[in-house]
Amino acid sequence: MNRSIYLLLIFVLSAGVFRHSYAQNQPADAQILFFSNVNAMLQNCGCGEPPLGGLAQMLPLINKKRNENKHSIVVDGGDFLNSYSYPDINRAVMEIYLRMDPDLVALGDQELTEGMAFLETNKDFFSRYLLASNANLPEVQRQKVFPVANLRILSWLDESAFDTAKKPSALTLSRTLFDYYYQQFKKNQLTIVIFHGAKSALRHFIKVYPAIDIILLAHAQSNIKQLKTRPFVIGGVVDGEYIKEIFISRAGENMQVNVTDIPVPMKIAPDTTVLKIIEKWQIK
Ligand SMILES: [Zn+2]
Repeated sequence: MNRSIYLLLIFVLSAGVFRHSYAQNQPADAQILFFSNVNAMLQNCGCGEPPLGGLAQMLPLINKKRNENKHSIVVDGGDFLNSYSYPDINRAVMEIYLRMDPDLVALGDQELTEGMAFLETNKDFFSRYLLASNANLPEVQRQKVFPVANLRILSWLDESAFDTAKKPSALTLSRTLFDYYYQQFKKNQLTIVIFHGAKSALRHFIKVYPAIDIILLAHAQSNIKQLKTRPFVIGGVVDGEYIKEIFISRAGENMQVNVTDIPVPMKIAPDTTVLKIIEKWQIK
């Protein structure tokens, strides 16, 4: 082989290798910080080994992740309020969420434990954060679009979520409403749906809505992590003990999703403002 052709060949081959390794080290196309079922867990229960969770620790951890990637999307899958009526605690949690400022909170059954009037009274808060693509509530958003990450998020509150709590009679969960947003597909845009309901009801939902890219499952803790075929399914966590860090990389039609469970340990220096809010509402 001519020496110059040989050198050229070596150059082309190594450039290919470099290009490949560069592609592997590229930042993910999108990063989602996902948690669910915070259950108004103001404070760590001190149980478990090591004890995990608590909003005062969660907040600094989320802020750290956001500083590392300002395009991180912070998603709460719902049930961030208490599982039974306790307005003072729920208001404290909402005050903390204003500081956390998540990108969205999917409507769960526990957001309705204070009754529909509570949503109306706190309209500013709920219209800013709550996402419910299939609920007939005036105080919620029905679709969130993130142009930077080229994705959109919808949420589905399933009838199966009302296993213990009674569904308010004024609440209608409408497939027609959901269909309107579901059908708005855009080229190359990913569709993520937060499914808030029983895991057993998910199979039927996927049959009816097969074109979803990723489903985030909330309402109960679930270790499900199906990342082989669309729709990818990622289960939620509880009590603010973990945050799921989801990386989505795309190359044409191909999509790769990686999920890391990040524990929320007590050793994280707590957010002092959150501590003050907790103190204020503490039962004396
Ligand atoms: Zn729920």
